[in-house]
Amino acid sequence: MTARILVLPGDGVGPEICREATRVLEALQRDHGLDVELEEDLVGGAAYEATGEPLPAETLEKARGADAVLFGAVGGAQWDELPRELRPESGLLQLRSELGLFANLRPAMLYPQLAHASTLRHEVVAGLDLMIVRELTGGIYFGQPRSTRTDTHGRRQAVNTMLYTEGEIERIARVGFDIARRRNKRLCSVDKANVLEVSQLWRDVVNEVGQEYPDVELSHMYVDNAAMQLVRAPKQFDTIVTGNLFGDILSDIAAMLTGSIGMLPSAALDEAGRGMYEPVHGSAPDIAGQGVVNPLATILSVAMMLRHSLHRQDLAERVEHAVGDALDRGLRTRDIMDDEKQVASTGEMGGAVIDMLQ
Ligand code: NAD
Repeated sequence: MTARILVLPGDGVGPEICREATRVLEALQRDHGLDVELEEDLVGGAAYEATGEPLPAETLEKARGADAVLFGAVGGAQWDELPRELRPESGLLQLRSELGLFANLRPAMLYPQLAHASTLRHEVVAGLDLMIVRELTGGIYFGQPRSTRTDTHGRRQAVNTMLYTEGEIERIARVGFDIARRRNKRLCSVDKANVLEVSQLWRDVVNEVGQEYPDVELSHMYVDNAAMQLVRAPKQFDTIVTGNLFGDILSDIAAMLTGSIGMLPSAALDEAGRGMYEPVHGSAPDIAGQGVVNPLATILSVAMMLRHSLHRQDLAERVEHAVGDALDRGLRTRDIMDDEKQVASTGEMGGAVIDMLQ
């Protein structure tokens, strides 16, 4: 059956990176039997300019009907003074919540060719390949009650609530186990069960779900230790599953292990495995329109789409290998440049990946 893909380029460098990612999808369609139908629409600041809203109803409707969404990036200084609900970033948050994207997948993978880009020693990060599965729609970012108030002495206080139901924990745990099963079959669940009731429930439910996955080796780690271990010896991890707050912090640590924001893809999945795929970086207005942005994070997001929503593991691997081959050829965009390499434009980098798909 033909899979429907909605492309939402957004703002800043969004159109440039989505153009290259779309060319990759078209090459797979033309030469490798990928059965997809591509459509493009507006989101973010671009949508606000055209319609007065960062997420027009038409875009949301198309996203709901799509099997997968490829998202570029949104935002720019010209929209920063708008009321919060009209800002480009609100369009993205609304899209995530409307589509029920509760599972955020953030791989941190270091291509050996780029080991120099990390601030960590080569031997600590060379060959790094880990996946963080973060719960995205629950926990302390959404828990009620939340408020800022004044006590009887007129002093301010504020409260947020970290709340997880067993259903929420169970479904994210399942995503973690399923992904670990397709990788090296090791899942580390990160919590703070020594201090927090919500983490004790998290640990109990993860253990219960783990009974159904005897082939996956499950371990648990406190979040403070996990942060330390990620910079001390990150290669000990295969797949990590954790809640919203801890995942937010740990995935940024993991991202920086690789040293290069232009290389990092991500996915957000719903319960049916449909998803939205986007680079981790933003709209990079400082380099927009210059043809220098690194398109590889977005192209690697296409690889994640092929694996997780389109069930084409073969093509996902083909794209990932093509990225490695393009780097082997010595091509580098400015953000990943080192001395002896050849500087490539956005289009040249995308073109090299397409050549290497063959
Ligand atoms: P950014 O990620 O856009 O850029 C940070 C720095 O990294 C910039 O110097 C940029 O040039 C560079 N960079 C980022 N991606 C690159 C790539 N692929 N190739 C080469 N260099 C790259 O973050 P920022 O500057 O803090 O934010 C800019 C705008 O993006 C803001 O409006 C922000 O709100 C928005 N933003 C959007 C998203 C999203 O759409 N998911 C995420 C983060 C930030």
